[in-house]
Amino acid sequence: MIALEKYIRDIPDFPKPGVVFKDITPLLASPEAMDLCVQELLRLTEMQSIDKVVGIESRGFFFATLMAKELKAGFVPIRKPGKLPFETLKQPYTLEYGMDALEIHEDAIQKGDKVLLHDDVLATGGTAQAACKLIEKLGGEIVQCNFLIELEFLKGASKLQRYEHRALLTY
Ligand code: 5GP
Repeated sequence: MIALEKYIRDIPDFPKPGVVFKDITPLLASPEAMDLCVQELLRLTEMQSIDKVVGIESRGFFFATLMAKELKAGFVPIRKPGKLPFETLKQPYTLEYGMDALEIHEDAIQKGDKVLLHDDVLATGGTAQAACKLIEKLGGEIVQCNFLIELEFLKGASKLQRYEHRALLTY
């Protein structure tokens, strides 16, 4: 079996000095690695019944849509402010320096929907935590938060204690 780690490239000092960025584009460029990645992410979900797979802009979209198709669930995007065209709910969150926010369409999730949240990387956890708040404000029930990569040393899991969270690769 191929090892997915081989397809994750470390980029030192991106996007700023001192940060080692996990670049997933080599993985996306390989059909075999992408296929394996989808199958492994689905295995993490234990094929629970899911109504909506929510992906976080932008790298979360790739595997969230592929998983949604396999799970016969809908796909819902969570995006940066001003990108979604319909009425939105907004959730601000804290970054290392400053603030950002995420938005979701207010009709994207129905009350009681079983939701799988996906992003490529769990780092400090602020992004995923804000996404969980948006899903819950719309009445969604978060079945699992899953990630391709968890950077454990950044302790993002501490912000997701209320949820089941899984990652394919941990560093
Ligand atoms: P957090 O809010 O957990 O600190 O950051 C997670 C968000 O930043 C995710 O949406 C993820 O795409 C992005 N991110 C942070 N670090 C990395 C990285 O090393 N590689 C990639 N691909 N994304 C990252």
